[in-house]
Amino acid sequence: MGNCAIVGINWGDEGKGRMVDLLTERYDIVIRYQGGGNAGHTVINEYGKFALHLLPSGIFRKGVVNVLGNGVALDPENLWVEIGEVAGKGVPITPENLKISDRASLLLPWHRELDRLEEARLADKKYGSTKQGIAPFYSDKYQKKTILAGELLCPEHLKEHLKDLLEWKNLTLSGVYGAAPVTMEALENWINTYCEKIKPFICDTGVFLRNAQAEGKKILFEAQLGALRDLDYGIHPYTTSSNAIAAYAPVGSGLPSAKIDEIIGVVKAYSTCVGEGPFVCELFGQEAEKLRKAGAEYGAKTGRPRRVGPIDLVATRYGVQVQAATNIALTKLDVLSDMEKIPVCTHYLLDGKVTDEFPFPTLLEKAQPVTEYMDGWKTDISSIRKWEDLPVQAQKYVEFIENQIGCHIGYVSVGPERDSIIIR
Ligand code: GDP
Repeated sequence: MGNCAIVGINWGDEGKGRMVDLLTERYDIVIRYQGGGNAGHTVINEYGKFALHLLPSGIFRKGVVNVLGNGVALDPENLWVEIGEVAGKGVPITPENLKISDRASLLLPWHRELDRLEEARLADKKYGSTKQGIAPFYSDKYQKKTILAGELLCPEHLKEHLKDLLEWKNLTLSGVYGAAPVTMEALENWINTYCEKIKPFICDTGVFLRNAQAEGKKILFEAQLGALRDLDYGIHPYTTSSNAIAAYAPVGSGLPSAKIDEIIGVVKAYSTCVGEGPFVCELFGQEAEKLRKAGAEYGAKTGRPRRVGPIDLVATRYGVQVQAATNIALTKLDVLSDMEKIPVCTHYLLDGKVTDEFPFPTLLEKAQPVTEYMDGWKTDISSIRKWEDLPVQAQKYVEFIENQIGCHIGYVSVGPERDSIIIR
């Protein structure tokens, strides 16, 4: 067993957090390699229930070192609040078990403000942003107009750099959006309130990881969101602004030489999607409400009701392919236990033709789902821990998905708790 990435196959919220929490005992290091504080990885364990936004899900395991890689949107304000909340429930968080890459860029206060201003300008054409500043942050990162975490350790240089960025950013804030400019005083206050607090965690994680690799330590890469929200491979423009695919893990983690031996793709037993954008298999009305309630499908960060639908095998197959998944964790199978017949979207109908290929994003708006129905099992499966104890209809459902997506389903999750899992 070597390194492993745990990634989302669909639109996010597949249950990655619970899988990372389950599997961290096998690994020495857990790295978040992309995305920001807009994640909501729900974890339920002996410390309680958590929705982790930026902290890697290995934070609960003794002896595991957690790394925030250079690919993340490092929001010092959110991170410091989150550290306080998690540590407040008795979880030790120290520079020994949490390391922040000195090459991670800081999400600055104006990123959140710009996100809000742009969504307001777009009005009914909005992208459905969580307004955490992620898109403005990544645009600035690629323009090299951000501060690296390591610059916090060089105060004289930091002040000059902040001044330059402030001057530049105020041109956009007031010139383009007519908003109030940010003052240097406010920025320095923010630095003193939040950035000072996270300074002890910042280090050269590249050296740490290269040494760990040389010692044969095992690494788990944790992704945010899913393949369909990947900046390059997702449903543009309703994607996130970073690469959520496993191929980006070595780059965003700070260990570009890392070899990933196993890629566990997390798939939900039905579909959910937060925010705007095409969602071909979407259910509406009572049917949707019932599924949403059964699965408690409300955003971990925003509380927004998630859009729901049957499992979409066209999108899932594509997700498996772009993630290059080697194994699948199918989550929330227990949520379907009440259904007499379970709908499954097997193909799309596009321009009068049936297809099993995931279309170019613009064409998705026109695609219609082709749905089949499978027998339900109508019995509570949440206490089952062995494959052979699952009702035969549930086994058939899992096997059908497995055949359609072309990847082994090695884990079947039947509840949110750490041990509610069937390993095949
Ligand atoms: P993530 O962002 O991919 O980690 O997923 P979320 O945390 O946003 O959403 C997954 C939700 O489903 C969380 O509330 C989990 O506690 C819950 N969950 C995960 N696996 C299961 C499962 O097998 N059954 C049930 N009922 N809930 C699950």
